[in-house]
Amino acid sequence: MSASTPSVPLSEDGLACPYSMRAIFNEGFARCRQKRARYQQERLKITQPEPAAAARLGAGVLSITTRYRSDNGTLMAETHHYRRGNRILASGFEDPKLLRVNREYVEPSHGDGEWCADCAEWRPRAEASKHLPG
Ligand SMILES: [Zn+2]
Repeated sequence: MSASTPSVPLSEDGLACPYSMRAIFNEGFARCRQKRARYQQERLKITQPEPAAAARLGAGVLSITTRYRSDNGTLMAETHHYRRGNRILASGFEDPKLLRVNREYVEPSHGDGEWCADCAEWRPRAEASKHLPG
């Protein structure tokens, strides 16, 4: 598998391993930065976290949903993250909740604490994608 042609095993219901989504999102974002490619970033929703998350994360945290579009306006990703000031909490990276892969949209098939058949391949790649230059 080449890094330049990401291929996620798509299930018929449009779900994909969330770690594959994170790897592909981070790798694509790094490529955009390296090429200085243009993309449109739209803050879709900025709210106070849900009470449970607020209690866990502490004061002054915002829940932020962002959409990314390509230069021609195609929706490429919708992400979520918690932010305090300029710092992204948890993994330090935005978490894709919707991602366009091979012209189709996928959503996470499971939660962070769960494993799927694709996790073994994608978890290390998702971790590596946090350290890409760009
Ligand atoms: Zn998985």
